[in-house]
Amino acid sequence: MNFKNLTIKDIRNILTETDLEDFYHHYFEFLKEEDKKIKGFLFLNEELAYKTIKELKNKDRNLPLWGIPIAIKDNILVEGIKCTAGSKILENYTAVYDATVIKKLKQSGAIIVGKTNLDEFAMGSSTENSAFFQTLNPFDQTRVPGGSSGGSAAVVGAGLVPIALGSDTGGSIRQPAGFCGIYGLKPTYSAISRYGLIAMASSLDQIGPLAKDLDDLILVFRITRGKDELDSTSQNYVEKIKEIRKIGVPEEVFSLGLEKEVKDVFENFLEKIKEKFEIKKISLPSLPYALPTYYLIMTAEVSSNLARYDGIRYGLSYETDHLLEKYLNSRELGFGQEVKRRILLGTFVLSHGYYEAYYLKALKTRKFIYEDFQKAFKEVDLILMPTSPTLPFKLGEKTTDPLSMYLSDIFTVPINLAYLPALAFNIGWVNNLPVGAQIIGNLFEEESLFKFLKEIEIAKLTRT
Ligand code: GLN
Repeated sequence: MNFKNLTIKDIRNILTETDLEDFYHHYFEFLKEEDKKIKGFLFLNEELAYKTIKELKNKDRNLPLWGIPIAIKDNILVEGIKCTAGSKILENYTAVYDATVIKKLKQSGAIIVGKTNLDEFAMGSSTENSAFFQTLNPFDQTRVPGGSSGGSAAVVGAGLVPIALGSDTGGSIRQPAGFCGIYGLKPTYSAISRYGLIAMASSLDQIGPLAKDLDDLILVFRITRGKDELDSTSQNYVEKIKEIRKIGVPEEVFSLGLEKEVKDVFENFLEKIKEKFEIKKISLPSLPYALPTYYLIMTAEVSSNLARYDGIRYGLSYETDHLLEKYLNSRELGFGQEVKRRILLGTFVLSHGYYEAYYLKALKTRKFIYEDFQKAFKEVDLILMPTSPTLPFKLGEKTTDPLSMYLSDIFTVPINLAYLPALAFNIGWVNNLPVGAQIIGNLFEEESLFKFLKEIEIAKLTRT
């Protein structure tokens, strides 16, 4: 049986004729073999999967995800299995409950086949900050898959699973989706419950799906969204679909380090969709300020969210009778360099005397960014931007230069700061390397993003 590139529909068809357990015996062999090439999985979840399979045999086969394999970024809790967040500090931590999204997926019949690699605590753009190993780009194994949901993007991009979940605080679903040639949705802030997501920066974090097939992504989004009593920021989801005529392209995009090859593919794509939509150049003057704003707000929230890893409540605990020594050494040994850098920066921007100068100012700038987008949505229906200014870069290329790594997020962070939904998709290829773009809507307009992609029949336009 060929397991590569199966969609949910394909698997449902196979399962009408194949025993579920038989299917998974072969499927897990396939996953183990194929994942050696990209190392997207931190670990597979066979034991629990077979338990679910037994339970599923007595459940309604018409459940929307009955028997469908799903990969989960390893910062989302699945009861009874490890959740490391890509960090040494949680290396031996086992989750004691299911995240709300996991509960919903299980209720729909899904089978969680494994947890995927990520940058430590989702901080990074290449998955090289994982404390465990590097994940490789499915199209070129000398390059990164993007990050921080690099494991999820790689296993979907390589055709190992139809669907994976990731999290996006400043681009961590969309940038790797772009680098791996697939779809990735960063939903409206509050559209999907964050209960059971290991927090990075709570006012920016969102869980979302990555998929090779648009219908699969839509299905999983619809299953996972909605109000959850366990996340007070989550909201009832009310679909908003609008007519799509005008697509805005911010002129600032072209002056923010966009690589020529990416620019060419992007402009070529604009040419192609011109027949269907009016393309309008717009201005988002606050766009150049988004990256510094993000790195102030995000680090402030990181420093407070990660205070809970004290060597006592969770994970790694340094052996000593001295309390302060326990705190200091557990954190010193448990956290990697990038995480420490962000905790230091965040503690600094929140400290007395700097709070007004940095943190408060950043909050005000965030408001400007939000308002800029709101103004733009009075002129155009949706906004289109690249997901990243560069092609997937080489392993090691940016690891010694944090600033150049941060610049990878220049087009994705504004969307999180403005709470908006954005869907990343493939717009073309350069030397067998994928190029991604993101279509951005106003709050709760995910369905309009789907409609846009359906209207341009993206598969036809971008296939090489
Ligand atoms: N790459 C960005 C960062 O390092 C975004 C991370 C994310 O979205 N989790 O902060």
